[in-house]
Amino acid sequence: MAAMRQKSKPVSTTAKSGKAVRIPYTTAEVTEIFRRFAVQRPEPQPELEHSDAFTLLVAVVLSAQATDMGVNRATRGLFAKASTASAMVALGEDAIREEIRTIGLFRNKAKNVALLAERLVEHYGGVVPDSREALEALPGVGRKTANVVLNTAFGKETLAVDTHIFRIGNRLKIAPGKTPEEVERNFLRIIPDGYLRHAHHWLILHGRYVCKARKPDCAACIIADLCKADEKTTNVPAPLVPLEVRGAGEQARPPVTAFGGAVL
Ligand code: SF4
Repeated sequence: MAAMRQKSKPVSTTAKSGKAVRIPYTTAEVTEIFRRFAVQRPEPQPELEHSDAFTLLVAVVLSAQATDMGVNRATRGLFAKASTASAMVALGEDAIREEIRTIGLFRNKAKNVALLAERLVEHYGGVVPDSREALEALPGVGRKTANVVLNTAFGKETLAVDTHIFRIGNRLKIAPGKTPEEVERNFLRIIPDGYLRHAHHWLILHGRYVCKARKPDCAACIIADLCKADEKTTNVPAPLVPLEVRGAGEQARPPVTAFGGAVL
């Protein structure tokens, strides 16, 4: 369980300059936010379809400037033909390009997938390495992709800052930063022990379905009473109900009684 720090002091993070940045949340509030995320999504799942570290790596490389649903549509055909590094090498860049031509930047992405598969076969026996340095040295793999793979495939406590997490860090003033790296650093400083393993998915899903870019759906937000965003429209939090993952979307599960039956 999460370690409790001092309860009521505002949390400080540190900017790149080394200066302490005060955020308008106490440690107890930050802990409560993540506690609620954990209750709502006990076992959050990535929405990119994959069966192992290799297919996850390829899916994440393909996901830049594309939706998860669009990537899933493309990878179903691709992985049916090649779901290992050696099979991807055998398939070749031209055939990879044909399979993924419905997603943005497909030419460049096909080249990167072919090259990274080759690199994996040559240097790692076709196995995806579990170190940041090795991952970031692969074609098409940057810090964000490495963080997703380290977290999801290898269970490491990393946080990949995508557009949703960047927005939440700044909008809520909870982990402000001008760059994804700064937001990542500030989140890593404040996320309580025990919650980092799933923080990445909780924040992405919260941003994708509730704290949306154009218009946050504050009425559906379980942390509305704690949030300090200027845009928020209510102080009343939505009921804290565990959600069930169903395909690319989610829906609320009815609360269960102490005896395991649904409350009707
Ligand atoms: S209250 Fe609104 S702005 Fe704040 S986290 Fe929830 S959805 Fe986002």
